[in-house]
Amino acid sequence: MYEGVVQDLIDELGRLPGVGPKSAQRIAFHLLQAEPTDVRRLADVLIEVKARVKFCSICFNVSEDEQCRICRDERRDPSVLCVVEEYKDVVAIERTREFRGRYHVLGGAISPIDGIGPDQLHVKELMPRLADGAVTEVILATDPNLEGEATATYLTRLLLPMGLRVTRLASGLPVGGDLEYADEVTLGRAFAGRRSASD
Ligand SMILES: [Zn+2]
Repeated sequence: MYEGVVQDLIDELGRLPGVGPKSAQRIAFHLLQAEPTDVRRLADVLIEVKARVKFCSICFNVSEDEQCRICRDERRDPSVLCVVEEYKDVVAIERTREFRGRYHVLGGAISPIDGIGPDQLHVKELMPRLADGAVTEVILATDPNLEGEATATYLTRLLLPMGLRVTRLASGLPVGGDLEYADEVTLGRAFAGRRSASD
């Protein structure tokens, strides 16, 4: 244990993903020895990114306003909702131009080993969006890996009893990978060939 503010810094760094206690200590001592201008630049960019970038209050996509561009767009199809893990998946799917509905960004995937369950994701915010019956199809576009599969299975069980059409992307995506790494044509085909999650 170190004194006061040095220990505070180590504690804060240790809360970052992938930074263990040893790394936190190493980064802290690096910062202590660094030029004040370099540390100031890092501090400024941390504050700036939090001040400028927000998340959409409806779908949790990255947005500079209260609601994102896609949620505000009247031309989007209100009957189809695509559930993704991260906002970078929204970017990947938008690039395919295959999808005209709206999104719901979970903020990750179910991963018991990392202590991430449905409560750590934006699952509870998904339910009110389906309550008025406007959405008739939910497309589960989670990553084609273990966590993505677990998340899609969980959501399928949750959504099917609500009488919604629940679909999954067609196979053909690189297994074990991230949705965002699939090329536009492959991802577009997976979208067009989506299948019902109930069979
Ligand atoms: Zn939005």
